[in-house]
Amino acid sequence: MIRISFPDGAVREFQEGVSSLDIAKSISEGLARKVLAAKVNGEVWDATRPISMDASLNLLTWDDSDGKSTFWHSSAHLMAEAVEVLFPGAKFWVGPAIEKGFYYDIDLGDKTISEDQLKDMEKLMNELAKKNSAYVRKALPKQEAIAYFEQKGDEYKLDLLQGLQDGEITFYTQGNFTDLCRGPHIPHTGFIKAIKLMSIAGAYWKGDEKNKQLTRIYGVTFPSQKELDEYLAMLEEAKKRDHRKLGKELGIFTFDDEVGPGLPLWLPNGAVVIEELEKLAKETENAAGYKRVVTPHIAKESLYHTSGHLPYYQDSMYPPMELEGTKYYLKAMNCPHHHKIFSSDARSYKELPVRLAEYGTCYRYEQSGELFGLMRVRCLHMNDAHIYCTREQFAQEFRAVNEMYMKYFKIFGIEKYVMRLSLHDPAKLGQKYINEPELWLETEAMVRNVLIESGIPYVEVPDEGAFYGPKIDVQIWSAIGREFTLATNQVDFAQGRRFKLTFTNKDNQPETPLIIHRAPLGTHERFIGFLLEHYAGKFPLWLAPVQVKVLPISEKFIPYAANVVDELKKADIRAELDDRNEKIGKKIRDTEILKIPYMFVIGEKEVNEGLVSVRKQGIGDQGSRPVSEILSTLISEIKERQ
Ligand SMILES: [Zn+2]
Ligand SMILES: [Zn+2]
Repeated sequence: MIRISFPDGAVREFQEGVSSLDIAKSISEGLARKVLAAKVNGEVWDATRPISMDASLNLLTWDDSDGKSTFWHSSAHLMAEAVEVLFPGAKFWVGPAIEKGFYYDIDLGDKTISEDQLKDMEKLMNELAKKNSAYVRKALPKQEAIAYFEQKGDEYKLDLLQGLQDGEITFYTQGNFTDLCRGPHIPHTGFIKAIKLMSIAGAYWKGDEKNKQLTRIYGVTFPSQKELDEYLAMLEEAKKRDHRKLGKELGIFTFDDEVGPGLPLWLPNGAVVIEELEKLAKETENAAGYKRVVTPHIAKESLYHTSGHLPYYQDSMYPPMELEGTKYYLKAMNCPHHHKIFSSDARSYKELPVRLAEYGTCYRYEQSGELFGLMRVRCLHMNDAHIYCTREQFAQEFRAVNEMYMKYFKIFGIEKYVMRLSLHDPAKLGQKYINEPELWLETEAMVRNVLIESGIPYVEVPDEGAFYGPKIDVQIWSAIGREFTLATNQVDFAQGRRFKLTFTNKDNQPETPLIIHRAPLGTHERFIGFLLEHYAGKFPLWLAPVQVKVLPISEKFIPYAANVVDELKKADIRAELDDRNEKIGKKIRDTEILKIPYMFVIGEKEVNEGLVSVRKQGIGDQGSRPVSEILSTLISEIKERQ
């Protein structure tokens, strides 16, 4: 018998050779129908693979990211099976799962594939899936594997085999298709109920443009048609809400070739959004006891050697400039500058925690191919702060950071979010992770407790911590259900030592503070990109670049309308006058396209009675109201950040 321990701590005995699927069945048939794979002693396995030792077991379904990626990778095999039927002689390189779906890189010989053929392939994949063909795993000696692919004339798999050791080679077969693969896979093809092949692209073998170009086919699959339909509808909606498209239409940002790729120019409307976000951050941080600092955009090379960013992070930094015999780097992060501010003065435990905040401008060298609108840029403005605290203060400080997140999520209507807590691996202390076993366990436990106590949804990811401490990635979902990584918080017990930061503790001894790196609003670039999609460009009143457009019905009402605009401006409301010689219908439509929250229409009645006719975006006509009354409504709406 072997002992299997479950995530809830329960331990049960099973016959040696039992599979995860058998174990799922022993719990419930319903569960067994959902199991795609299983984590056995931390490794993802086929659910059908026999277990022959005591093990910890975590059954994986569609709701687990490892379950999803196993599903999608298995779908790549299914696609390859269809390719082999439709393109006999095709050779296969690699077919991984990606963030959403999968691809396979294929050598089609002298053939090409058309969009119509993708449809045929989808159809064939659906037929093959319905056969419920099992994914059968077979371990075999390297020589046998080589012989198989030599006979097939497949130089790609032979190349893959070269890098593998005898004893670690497995084949997987489903239906008539056999692939060299380390797995794992789902139990059978019948789980794949909905298939969409998305696109075709060229991809150089091994990413090297000197090599042959292969055909890459992207696809996505789901366990139900409903989920596929929802996903495609979401993509359609996301296209309409594309931040690059909206950013242009609404005058938020632009790029210029001569300024350089990945260096956004914020237009006046974008600058307003930036200012409002910074105002929010400053108010919130002031109330939470942060102090603001301002630091230069460059620093001497030695600073980044002290921090350890050089040489390890060099590829992500702009190359240095040299003056007076010294190299200077553009800063890729604000931490080292802040650490220097901490160490600029003697610190006592009585002053801690010290919280230094700055909307810091950083420069990172992202590969040209990686640049993407505001999401991947080379110049970014980060809602940064560093908290220097004692071990006793840590939990409270971390809790307060989380509360700040919750406050922001509420303001922005972010309803779905998850914190990914990345932990260390004790086996890799001193190599991948700084060798502080107790501090790791202590801070991980404190972070975990705070997350549990505050009821924040979170997942734990082993062996993905930063070098110097546990890391918390914050994932948020936009109104249409697309996932974004907002920011990373880090606990840091290495930088303090590298920078020789100390405070005098209660026993009058020097002690190194713990550091929390946090950036709840991420960077302006990514956050405004997210907000554009989230709001579909319809910023709430407090964030809207233009809050009110005043529309006189005819020329003779312009003086009154101009007065209204003046009054709004005096109250710090961003108002504009539309004094064009256009029909009111057109003026209203144009304002709607710009997604301006309020329109005040001015006609005879309004002028005579000192009113404005109010139209609210998304709601419509709200009738005529005295200027002073609507003014106080707007002021309170803005103040409440509704
Ligand atoms: Zn595979
Ligand atoms: Zn930092």
